[in-house]
Amino acid sequence: MDNAELVVLAVDDDLINLKLLKSMLLKTGYVKEVIEAKNGSDAIGHLKARDDIDFMLLDIIMPVMNGIEVLKVVRADESLKQMPIIVLTTDETKKSEALNFGANGFLTKPIRQDELIKQIKLMTSL
Ligand SMILES: [Mg+2]
Repeated sequence: MDNAELVVLAVDDDLINLKLLKSMLLKTGYVKEVIEAKNGSDAIGHLKARDDIDFMLLDIIMPVMNGIEVLKVVRADESLKQMPIIVLTTDETKKSEALNFGANGFLTKPIRQDELIKQIKLMTSL
């Protein structure tokens, strides 16, 4: 993998968490751009508007449109369904539901840098 070439869509309604995630992603050295979205609807808009997003990090519990709904929309959309999606969870019980709807990986909040790097490597080898 070349350094700092990835474009990541980060989706979380908690803006402090979103900023933290952005700075962690940029610090990995693999990511050149982080697109931020504050809910699922916002995220779908970015996915439709850009074709250079390499993977997304997706919170589950969000207002307007939650992460499970995003998974359903993305996996049903011919042009988006291959998008690698890492789900951000605090609640273990949401994992099986997210997996059923097509999540590729999981990160448990609070997110650790080493776990984040491990997931980035997994997603980019898909
Ligand atoms: Mg949330």
